[in-house]
Amino acid sequence: MDFKEAPYTRPDFDQIKTSLATYTTALKGADDPDTALAAATAANQLINDYTSQAMLAQIRHSIDTNDEFYNKEDDYWNTNGPLYENEERKYKAAVVASPYQEVLGQIYPKPDIMSMQNDLKMANEAIIPLQQKNNALVSEYAKLVASAQIDFQGETLTLAQLGPYRESADRATRKAATEAYWGFFADHEADFDRIYDDMVKVRTEIAHTLGYPDYSALSYVYMNRFGYDEPMVAQYRKTVLEKVVPLTQKQYTKQAKRLGLAKLAYYDLPVAFKSGNAKPTGTPDELVATAQQMYNDLSPETGDLFALMVKNHLFDLLAKKGKQSGGYCEYIPSLQAPFIFANFNGTSGDVDVLTHEFGHAFQTYSSRWIKDGLSTFPTFEAAEIFSMSMEFITYPWMKGFFGAAEEKYKYNHLEAALEFLPYGILVDHFQHEIYTHPEWTPAERKACWRDLEKQYNPERDYSENEALERGIYFFRQGHIFESPFYYLDYTIAQVLAYQFWKRFNVDHDPQAWTDYTTMAKAGGSQTLMELIQTGHLASPFEPGALDDTLTAISQALDGVDDQALDK
Ligand code: ZN
Repeated sequence: MDFKEAPYTRPDFDQIKTSLATYTTALKGADDPDTALAAATAANQLINDYTSQAMLAQIRHSIDTNDEFYNKEDDYWNTNGPLYENEERKYKAAVVASPYQEVLGQIYPKPDIMSMQNDLKMANEAIIPLQQKNNALVSEYAKLVASAQIDFQGETLTLAQLGPYRESADRATRKAATEAYWGFFADHEADFDRIYDDMVKVRTEIAHTLGYPDYSALSYVYMNRFGYDEPMVAQYRKTVLEKVVPLTQKQYTKQAKRLGLAKLAYYDLPVAFKSGNAKPTGTPDELVATAQQMYNDLSPETGDLFALMVKNHLFDLLAKKGKQSGGYCEYIPSLQAPFIFANFNGTSGDVDVLTHEFGHAFQTYSSRWIKDGLSTFPTFEAAEIFSMSMEFITYPWMKGFFGAAEEKYKYNHLEAALEFLPYGILVDHFQHEIYTHPEWTPAERKACWRDLEKQYNPERDYSENEALERGIYFFRQGHIFESPFYYLDYTIAQVLAYQFWKRFNVDHDPQAWTDYTTMAKAGGSQTLMELIQTGHLASPFEPGALDDTLTAISQALDGVDDQALDK
């Protein structure tokens, strides 16, 4: 299970293709359940094995992009991954069509079969050129954003490098940095408009070719949204608008007071505290030791897994030269173990890695009994419940990381999660409107964004910025361009994680940990709606479902003297 020791060999594609074809033929020709199960078992083992090799190559490449060997292997997988997928698709078609579903269920849980069916719905040669066009537009968007070279206070900065200045405690600095940031998007407004216009058109064509009325309807298929539909999501959006927005507005009023302002300008919004955000105390090694102690205290299962991951080099946490940015948790089927990647930088984000990503790790490790290694993770919105909940479950141990700034961290974390919800819903609502009105002009799209923004984020006052008032804010939201409809998932996971926040931190519900671990163990063997039932959670799609939680959050935030925290 040691990540450092795990051997990597590039698979022989021709051999894999032949073996997989043999198993596919055997499955198709099976006359009894035992023969079908034997063929599927062999195929699943093969897929687990080469997928694990692909993961090892990609992870090792992400840790050191200057390593020549894994650089080449990463290129190999980027180029050849689709060939493997193509062979897998033929096999999956045989799995879905097999009359022996019951016995195949031993390898492929029901949501897995449903995802395969969705994959097959998307497998249509007629859309390949359209997808290629879409991919080219995605690359063009990414390049345009990455091309930003902004002159600011004598330096030339990227959009990301402007970040710290946009959060500066000095108001004039953050105003200037924010204007420079949006200046880039305003200068390239025609390009962003054209790219998005082309994207909406090509995606609409994809939906029509596959027989769907619009791309919004198709998103329920390719995002594997099982057991809920657009009317239910519309109801949920309405709940957030009516119940959450009033609470966030109260928080923005408190924030203005903390910053000593009569009213927040749009460039004040990222600054939660005059005195800056809470920072963890201690070296990275000390943070890891604190996390180990925390997980020992939480439960034997979490303590054991954390120790096992440390022992087997399943963490790579420090930022270093040549390492890719960001953070993630991956589950490697051949090791039957999760791997956590991060770039510690001394901010509270380091602690979020040790809680959020470890939540993913704990969930996948708990469901390692699932034979299809790629189904240990449930669908995306469900997967994030475990990580986001772990951020809340570990609240009682935050003193170990933040010392005196413990309360400040928790307050800000709870507030930020609440403030994320309306924005996340805005992103979803906007895209729904866009793809159900594909004929709109760029000006009409921007007007729609601004109109929805006024509803979900009324705190945004653009009287000092004409371009934002025109509706260009969404240009910066990469998901809208690169992974359409990928945002709703975060909000669903967030409201469910909030229920665990309340059960652990307010109600001290003795059943909460059992429910969390039972859900984690079920993992990808259950759909979102089934997991909600397993965990005794309330469905966010039911009217009034958020009421209890929101009342508790509101009381918790009101119960803190936030002015006193800002010292
Ligand atoms: Zn996550």
